[in-house]
Amino acid sequence: MQPMLEQSLVFLDLETTGATPTSDRITEIGLVEVANGEFLGSWSQLVNPQSRIPPFIESLTGITTAMVEHEPTFAQIAPQLFERLQGKILVAHNARFDYGFLRNEFQRLGLDYRAKVLCTVKLSRALFPQQRRHNLDALIERHALSCSARHRALGDAEVLWNFVRKLYEEVDTASINAAVAKQYAQPSLPPRLSAEALDELPDAPGVYLFYGEGNLPIYVGKSVDLRARVWSHFSGDHRSAKDMRIAQEVTRVEWTQTAGELGALLKEARLIKDLLPALNRTERRHTGYFGFERDLALDSPRPLRLIASGTLEASRLENLIGLFRTKRAAQSALSGLALEHGLCPALLGLEAARAADAPCFSHQIKRCRGACCGKEPLAAHNLRLFEAMQALRVKDWPYAGPIGLRERSEQRTEIHLIDRWCHLGTANDDSQVYEVLEVRGTPTFDLDIYRILERALRTRRKGLELIQLGALASSWYRVRSCATALDY
Ligand SMILES: [Zn+2]
Repeated sequence: MQPMLEQSLVFLDLETTGATPTSDRITEIGLVEVANGEFLGSWSQLVNPQSRIPPFIESLTGITTAMVEHEPTFAQIAPQLFERLQGKILVAHNARFDYGFLRNEFQRLGLDYRAKVLCTVKLSRALFPQQRRHNLDALIERHALSCSARHRALGDAEVLWNFVRKLYEEVDTASINAAVAKQYAQPSLPPRLSAEALDELPDAPGVYLFYGEGNLPIYVGKSVDLRARVWSHFSGDHRSAKDMRIAQEVTRVEWTQTAGELGALLKEARLIKDLLPALNRTERRHTGYFGFERDLALDSPRPLRLIASGTLEASRLENLIGLFRTKRAAQSALSGLALEHGLCPALLGLEAARAADAPCFSHQIKRCRGACCGKEPLAAHNLRLFEAMQALRVKDWPYAGPIGLRERSEQRTEIHLIDRWCHLGTANDDSQVYEVLEVRGTPTFDLDIYRILERALRTRRKGLELIQLGALASSWYRVRSCATALDY
């Protein structure tokens, strides 16, 4: 079984005026056509790039401006070339380069060229992982390949065809099949993204923004590996409805690197709230809350009230027990507690109204201990309730004042400034810390930020350094003393 050679393949190489597919042009195309492992023929054509070829490229390829100025332009050969390539697998060395040039040249003419692509650099890397070099000269030397004209399109395309035939002599077919299958499994770019849109994505932490037609992003995400995460949205399998829509609509991608995961999480939460991307989960875009307020009378028959609140100042938090994005989430958390502790759902307002002193449904199935029908004193019930609800409480801020969390990577450092679970801002070095503190007004509590920070402080991931900014009480915004690092 030789699946790669059983298909129709085009081994192709291009010469160009430079390295940028969007602005440089093709000067020569060479290709070898193969079907079912049989050589069908070869074709090469010089192309007038309608611009000057830089001298260093002239001396590399031997193709000069004078040589191509009377040759056909890409537009003139495009129909014939399109036909040759259509439905074939494109095989090229560093295929992203050749594929990008072809797509751009065809796109200038309003043609959408797409192909399954096989890269011989990747193939060589996969099959000879012990080797460091995989450029064409290295392949020629390692596999004793013949080459009629190095750095000319057809000459180089023939080398690739020779290389692949040599593979079947040197490597077992199963390994080749596996390496080829792995390349095909790689995701392809969404239709409206340019071929090189993702080339510069770093494999570093940060946030990314997908844009459609408008000026606002349609989706914001974060990752410790931007490159892998962005590509994962476009993988062919396990595609969610959201990823389908992203793939259909995305026209450009922007990203910002951060020092680490915490910085990425904080920035993502902020961007979602500020920009309201249509494809981010709706509850994360809400700023309102639901929480419970207790009745101060211990023997109250209605010990809790569900409160809806708009934005919250951090200082008002103490009055609320539990904090939820939606009414449903609040009620579901309370139901869970009721079930676990034998509390009465009727007294908690979770069950429909009933006649006074009649047992609630939950009591009839022996879950509620009977506070509804006099079998448990109300005060005892309510004490158990408030005790159980401690689990839902937003934690008290454990520090005497604001803190900084310093996060470092090889490339950057960030100091996240935090007070009473609010993210005040992020400084890039110590000297910026007080600038950031000074411009902030009253911190506003945000549930997502709380969850991010609570987890970061609880797990104290390695590399995250806590900086106590001093017990500065109300005047801390103006204090300029040095930040002191605490070890813990
Ligand atoms: Zn009951």
